Amino acid sequence: MDKKIRDLINKLAEFHCLSKEEYTLLITERDEEAAELLRKKADAVRREYYGNDVYVRGLIEISNFCKQNCYYCGIRAGNKNCERYRLTEEEILDCCKEGYKLGIHTFVLQGGEDDYFTDEVLCDLIQQIKFNNPGCAVTLSLGERGLASFKKLYEAGADRYLLRHETADMNHYSKLHPRGSFANRVMSHGYLKRTGYQTGCGFMVGSPYQKPEHIALDLLYIGRLKPEMCGIGPFIPHHDTRFAGFEPGSVELTCYLLSIIRLICPKVLLPATTALATLDKQGREKGILAGANVIMPNLSPVSARDKYDLYDGKLSSGTEAAENIRKIKNSMEKIGYRVVVSRGDAKQ
Ligand code: SAH
Repeated sequence: MDKKIRDLINKLAEFHCLSKEEYTLLITERDEEAAELLRKKADAVRREYYGNDVYVRGLIEISNFCKQNCYYCGIRAGNKNCERYRLTEEEILDCCKEGYKLGIHTFVLQGGEDDYFTDEVLCDLIQQIKFNNPGCAVTLSLGERGLASFKKLYEAGADRYLLRHETADMNHYSKLHPRGSFANRVMSHGYLKRTGYQTGCGFMVGSPYQKPEHIALDLLYIGRLKPEMCGIGPFIPHHDTRFAGFEPGSVELTCYLLSIIRLICPKVLLPATTALATLDKQGREKGILAGANVIMPNLSPVSARDKYDLYDGKLSSGTEAAENIRKIKNSMEKIGYRVVVSRGDAKQ
C-alpha cells in the first residue's frame, strides 16, 4: 500500500472526515492491504461502541405497488411484468408477531410508494405493532412522503426512517431517476431528523454511470448528515429495466466503503444488506467483518418475497423466518459476533 493511502486511512480514523479529492484517491488507489487496514480500524471503533453485538431487524415488504419509476428498480411503476401484491394489515401484524417470538425487536416496514398506505392506515398499523409487541421499534422505508406525513407517523410511534439518497451528485441522480432530485432527498432528511426520527441515508455501489467522484460526494454527504443509519449495497441489474445490461457493483468495494463509513460515523447503525448477500454467499459475514453491525432478515410471508423483486436473483430463501434467523445466529458466532435481542437504537 502506498504511504499516501496509509496516511489517509490514519487521518480518516482520527478526524472522521476527508476531502472529496482524498476520498476519491482512497477509492481509486485501493488494494487489499488498504482494505485490511480499514477493516481493522473500523472493527476497533465498532467494538468500542457496540462490542461484538449484531442487531437484527425484521424486514417486512408490505407492498410492491409503486408510483415512482426509478430506472434501476424492478418494482418501478413502468414495469408491466411485475406481479403486484400488497400485504393486508392482518398479514403485517402476523409477521411482527412471528418475529417478536423469535427475538426480533425492530420491524422495518418497507415498500414501494403505494397510495393505499395513507397516513391514516399507517398510523393505525404502527400503533397496533407497538401495542402488540411491547418495547419494539418501528422503522419505515416507504420513500418520500413530505413533512406533514413524516410528523404524523412519528407521532403514531414510528422511531426510525430509512431513505437512501441513492447518489449525492445532482446529474447522476437524474440518470437514475426520471424525477425527484438529490435536493429533495436532502430536504427529506432534514425533515426526518428535525421531527425526531433516527434517520437513514445510503446509496448503491456500482450503480450505472457512478464514478469514484460520485462516491466521494456520497461520503461527504454522510459526514455532513451524520445519519443514525446508513444502508449501502451493490447495484444489481434487473432484467425488466433499462439497466438490464449493466454490470453489478462490486462486493469488495462495498465492504471497503462499509469500513470507511464506520470511520466517518463511528456510532452509525450499518447493515450488511441483502444485496451484498445476494452477490456473495459470504456477503453478510464479509459486511460484518468490514464494520457493519446490523442484519435484516426477511419476515415477509414466503409467498410475497419473490414478488418484492428489486433486482435479479434477490436472496429469498423459501425457508421460514425462524430457520433464517437460526442460520444468521450461527454464521455470526462462527466469525466471533453475536446476535442480540434488543431494539438496537443508535448510541448517543
Ligand atoms: N420505496 C422505498 C424503498 C425502496 S427499496 C424508498 O424509495 O426508499 C430499498 C432500496 O433498494 C432502494 O433505496 C435502492 O437503493 C435499493 N435498490 C433498488 N433497486 C436496486 C437494484 N437494482 N440493485 C440494488 N439495490 C436496489
